[in-house]
Amino acid sequence: DLILLDVMMPGMDGFETCKRLKSDPATRHIPVVLVTALDGREDRIRGLDAGADDFVTKPIDDVVLFARVKSLTRLKEVTDELREREESGRRLGVNVEGAARLRGSGGRVLVVDDDAQQQQRMTVELAKEHRPLVEADPEKALAAAAGPIDLMIVDTTSANFDGLRLIAQARSAQGTRKLPILAVVDPLDRPRLVKALELGANDILPRPIDSEELSARVRTQVRRKRYADFLREKLDYSLEMAVTDALTRLHNRRYMESHLSTLAEQAAMRAKPLALMMLDIDYFKSINDNYGHDAGDDVLREFAVRIRKSIRGIDLACRFGGEEFVIVMPETDLHVAGMVAERLRRSIAGEPFSVEKGAKRIEVTISIGISTLETKGEPISTVLKRADQALYRAKHDGRNRVVAAAA
Ligand code: GH3
Ligand code: MG
Ligand code: MG
Repeated sequence: DLILLDVMMPGMDGFETCKRLKSDPATRHIPVVLVTALDGREDRIRGLDAGADDFVTKPIDDVVLFARVKSLTRLKEVTDELREREESGRRLGVNVEGAARLRGSGGRVLVVDDDAQQQQRMTVELAKEHRPLVEADPEKALAAAAGPIDLMIVDTTSANFDGLRLIAQARSAQGTRKLPILAVVDPLDRPRLVKALELGANDILPRPIDSEELSARVRTQVRRKRYADFLREKLDYSLEMAVTDALTRLHNRRYMESHLSTLAEQAAMRAKPLALMMLDIDYFKSINDNYGHDAGDDVLREFAVRIRKSIRGIDLACRFGGEEFVIVMPETDLHVAGMVAERLRRSIAGEPFSVEKGAKRIEVTISIGISTLETKGEPISTVLKRADQALYRAKHDGRNRVVAAAA
């Protein structure tokens, strides 16, 4: 979960080791804490530049060490989870290559400090690589932090506002819970320093602020934030793709099947009815044969649009496969489901579908079978089967019609 790395080692030194760890995709995500001499400022800068996430100085102050280990392992848990999701994204064929190229520059950094001189020095240094923003009032800072900010630097040594309180507030508010925080601390005030980490600061920066240490620490935090944002975005996208039918943008069969039993359980628990509709386009094969596969696809897309128009928000519509669709309607009995199905059937048969970019119009009809959840605890597959049998009868009886399953 964490690597404590001594700078002074025989053979390969700590910097080279760190560089290699951070360039290998298999180990890049493991936080590295560099162990340096107390006066080893150059070592620390070099170490941070080599990609180290943090450092502790010898002799090791165990309170500081434990606090930092805690903060870094907490972060590791988050990145591990994201990495797992990235892995599943890859299995779903979502491209995640871009993550390696993410950089730690160009960050929107909010500086919360009322020490004019220190604030000035920080912004000058930060402006070389980032977009700094300054706020001396903690209330306004909290509001600003909920916006598009990549990192917040909080001075916890100010006499005029409580920086620790601001960190705690930021950690408990919805919009800033995951925002990286860098706490400016007095290195001799150990209790406050430890408190800052305990409250959720991701890293600390001792006063007086060393400009190179500032930029190295900020770069690390910004890079980390970018990485997490990237994965989260990809995750949202890959999850959506995994449950969506690409042609019609309706839910796919996998999504429906994973949600059907939940919907059935909810209906049984609340003693509410649940209706299910199975729809199939009539003679679809001949549409393909007569007008081509692309025209067939146009019909499927337009069909999905008309389905969406005639159902409620809580209804679940999905493409079951080919030209078959399923609509699940919570809190709907067989009578109402019959009316909805009939309205949908008419909306298809009553208005021809345009294909070939509007050049041709085709008459399309559908057949629908409907069924409802009959008894508590009845498996949903049985309800689906009854709808399918009703659909078969609708086809058999001449198509372009709605048939309700016998209870
Ligand atoms: P029925 O009235 O009995 O339902 O007759 P049908 O022709 O609609 O039924 P059948 O199951 O014989 O044919 C369905 C056709 O749907 C066959 C298949 O090639 C076509 N199909 C399935 N998926 C797609 C698709 O994504 N795009 C297109 N254009 N056609 C598809
Ligand atoms: Mg068909
Ligand atoms: Mg079919």
